[in-house]
Amino acid sequence: MKGWMKNIRQVTPYTPGEQPKRPGIIKLNTNENPYPPSPKVDKALKEMDVSMLRRYPDPTCQILNDALAHEYHLRPEQVFTGVGSDDVLAMCFMTFFDGEQPVLFPDITYNFYEVWAEVLRIPYRKVPLDEHFCIQSRDYAVPNGGVIFANPNAPTGQILDLGTIREILDANRDSIVIVDEAYIDFGGESALRFLDEYENLVVIQTFSKSRSLAGMRIGAAFASPELIRYLTDVKYSINSYTLNTAALIAGAASARDRKYFQETVGKIVRTRERVSARLRSLGFIFADSSANFLFVTHPEIPAVKLFEALKEEGIYVRYFRQPRIDNYLRITIGTDEEMDALIRFLEGMILL
Ligand code: PMP
Repeated sequence: MKGWMKNIRQVTPYTPGEQPKRPGIIKLNTNENPYPPSPKVDKALKEMDVSMLRRYPDPTCQILNDALAHEYHLRPEQVFTGVGSDDVLAMCFMTFFDGEQPVLFPDITYNFYEVWAEVLRIPYRKVPLDEHFCIQSRDYAVPNGGVIFANPNAPTGQILDLGTIREILDANRDSIVIVDEAYIDFGGESALRFLDEYENLVVIQTFSKSRSLAGMRIGAAFASPELIRYLTDVKYSINSYTLNTAALIAGAASARDRKYFQETVGKIVRTRERVSARLRSLGFIFADSSANFLFVTHPEIPAVKLFEALKEEGIYVRYFRQPRIDNYLRITIGTDEEMDALIRFLEGMILL
């Protein structure tokens, strides 16, 4: 064995959804938005003065933080932005989860939480969801070094009501509670309204889903000015220049265009409801989704078989080879045409 092996940090990385290169694919595997970003983003980027790029970007991310603060009726000191919510979440793990007690998160959730806990050597405990894949607040009323959950949860798409979130916050006054709201714009109520009441709350959102900007990598954390200061200190200790100039401009333009945002989200929600009804009529079983994806299982056809047949057809969905959910598929809501192609193919498989 090579001597330096003992000094190397070896980790099991997160496995992102495939990004196939071949043309003509229907890509329903990474919860991207099928519609383009706001035309205001297009305009702002076209008008961007390229000579600005010789300078470093604004490390305070002011135009973006101000736009978000304005949109969500917060103070700019309550906003932190980063390179996608993955970056913001990683910073949060580093900043807020530095204790000895285990950080708690559901057994079925965004797999990155476990990956960060492992890479940062944070003690953690996975709390099983109940048999309906729901969070039970009493499971989080135990000593811990922090709590994180996604709402709506991923990959289940299920929403936790604000009453239950309040119970978790009340039981954890001495812990930081992070609510990852990557999909909140597609259904359910945001925990942002609790920010003034709970100084231990951090809400995280992303521009990758409802704002169609996955390729720009923009995410945000909202919390008390005190928590945002701790987060910013860690960021400046690692990399001051996180968001690039184009991302700041695009993000600010997107955050200001509420009308376009609501229209696109509305279209996706309508498609989701229509597709849900069609899939149920084909025998699929699943809880109502509050996200831009459906998490489905079929009593007769194994999920892995459906996954492989769909892929063969050029329709990519997500399959997790993981305990409890290895007979489920996560299907992103695409355009109506894409979803019709999916349903036609499934009808062929199931009804024939
Ligand atoms: N949280 C959850 C629950 C997600 O599903 C994702 C998307 N993979 C993210 C955070 C990260 O998204 P992004 O880094 O694109 O903002």
